[in-house]
Amino acid sequence: MYRSHDCGSLRASDVNKEVTLAGWVQKSRDKGFMVWVDLRDRYGVTQLIFDEERTDKALLERAQKLGREFVIQVKGTVIERESKNAKMSTGDVEILVKELNILSESKTPPFTIEDNTDGGEELRMKYRYLDIRRNPVRENLIFRSKVAMEVRNFLAGKDFIEVETPVLIKSTPEGARDFVVPSRMNEGQFYALPQSPQTFKQLLMVGGMDKYFQIVKCFRDEDLRADRQPEFTQIDCEMSFVEQEDVLNIFEDMTRHLLKKVKNIDVADFPRMTYEDAMKKYGNDKPDIRFGMEFGELDAFAKAKDFKIFNEAELVVGIAVPGANSYTRKEIDKLIDWVRRPQVGALGMVYVRCNEDGTYKSSVDKFYDQEDLANWAKATGAKAGDLICVLSGPANKTRTQLSALRMEMAERLGLRDPEVFAPLWVVDFPLLEWDEDTERYHAMHHPFTSPKPEDIDKLETDPGNVRANAYDLVMNGNEIGGGSVRIFDKKLQALMFDHLGFTPDEARAQFGFLMDAFEYGAPPHAGLAFGFDRLVSILGGQETIRDFIAFPKNNSGRDVMIDAPSAIDQEQLTELNLKVTL
Ligand code: ASP
Repeated sequence: MYRSHDCGSLRASDVNKEVTLAGWVQKSRDKGFMVWVDLRDRYGVTQLIFDEERTDKALLERAQKLGREFVIQVKGTVIERESKNAKMSTGDVEILVKELNILSESKTPPFTIEDNTDGGEELRMKYRYLDIRRNPVRENLIFRSKVAMEVRNFLAGKDFIEVETPVLIKSTPEGARDFVVPSRMNEGQFYALPQSPQTFKQLLMVGGMDKYFQIVKCFRDEDLRADRQPEFTQIDCEMSFVEQEDVLNIFEDMTRHLLKKVKNIDVADFPRMTYEDAMKKYGNDKPDIRFGMEFGELDAFAKAKDFKIFNEAELVVGIAVPGANSYTRKEIDKLIDWVRRPQVGALGMVYVRCNEDGTYKSSVDKFYDQEDLANWAKATGAKAGDLICVLSGPANKTRTQLSALRMEMAERLGLRDPEVFAPLWVVDFPLLEWDEDTERYHAMHHPFTSPKPEDIDKLETDPGNVRANAYDLVMNGNEIGGGSVRIFDKKLQALMFDHLGFTPDEARAQFGFLMDAFEYGAPPHAGLAFGFDRLVSILGGQETIRDFIAFPKNNSGRDVMIDAPSAIDQEQLTELNLKVTL
């Protein structure tokens, strides 16, 4: 028996017990005649004491040689501590050691194994196994496991079954870039790693599985924006004989269940907002609704005067920033510089100070009188003491810019509290999205998403305005899940492929298996997938998903610990019939 107790469980009630503990040496203090060692494992830290009077000198001398991160086993008696430590769960007791076994020695770790370590990100990633010994990382992994368990509990309780789908699949041109794997047995041919199990889960519905889920790795070979991982985890779900509303309800319940179980937070019904409203009110399809600052469209009031910039703009739109009338002229100038940074890209910003006495002072007083400005205040919901910030230009672009400003102001005002959770559904996404590069429409969600039946006619005449039965679950400004009602009719699916620019032959070559399946009695079905890493990090009150992944990749997609990707030797290349020319 390696241990009788773990390092987090001994209390005052255990005094006089003979115990065996095992763990890592967190630190030790040597007073010459006495040595204290903090022994750590996943469950906590227990203080050990070696002293020449009560034990023996040889043992004390051995204890003096213990280095940080040595793995040891000790036997001894639980005694009451003279100076108790209320901050530690085991702080009332210590172990008077009688026997010490060194199970494994350790080099001095390259960074301190403390909550606030001196190790930089790259170093910690290289020695991730040491980083995982630190409380914050360990806690995050335990938290992640707990969320996964609760997902499984909830879905199992609703009759979902977990089915594994293959990882070596077929490459498809839609969506992101595939990671590919050469096939040795099929010369010149490649598998792709799944970007998601989308087609398989639909085939499971054709197979009659009715309710499916899987906590599953997905792979996308995209340029890595901050906080993206080339491999990531989804909670992937699909249901048969359901409408959109059924899917929203069940996964709203699941999200509520998670918030309750892991955060002990009750959230009422999630608001539902159309994509169109989200864009109009927040300039964003994943609005953060923990705070207000909704957009006020000012065209009707702003375009009536001689101000050329507004008159020529497609859209004039503003937000009221609470309390920001206190900004000095210099601070406002800085804010204008901020919106003009290339990352935001506005040409300028008009502002209105809402004074405490009910008057207004704007940067365009030459063109607008108090009555005009009062209308702006009304449209943006501005109160005395607020600052109205107004942007103008092409509608979509301007909304995106104002959304960036809204988020920035919320950040500065401390309105993005990570312990407040404001989930909502965004529904009625457009079916198609124009792609400037390829000059054709792409599926905004994916090609299996059903258009709204009442919009199907518009596919020919006005494809950009066809709405889909597609939905996203948004929380605190992040998309945490997304899905759609699927097409289950072969003809409609063929029509969709046609609109996405596939010839019938191409569609057959890529998705023939799905079209064939639809000829054998496909049930109506719908589903969604949650981004599990992001969900966990938001529930955990942190924004970086990397902190919740045991072995993450860095920003260049590398695992710096195992040093991957890496070259393979000539023999492997020959076997795979691959030639590498660099
Ligand atoms: N497969 C989709 C995705 O990865 C989710 C879904 O439609 O269920 O985004």
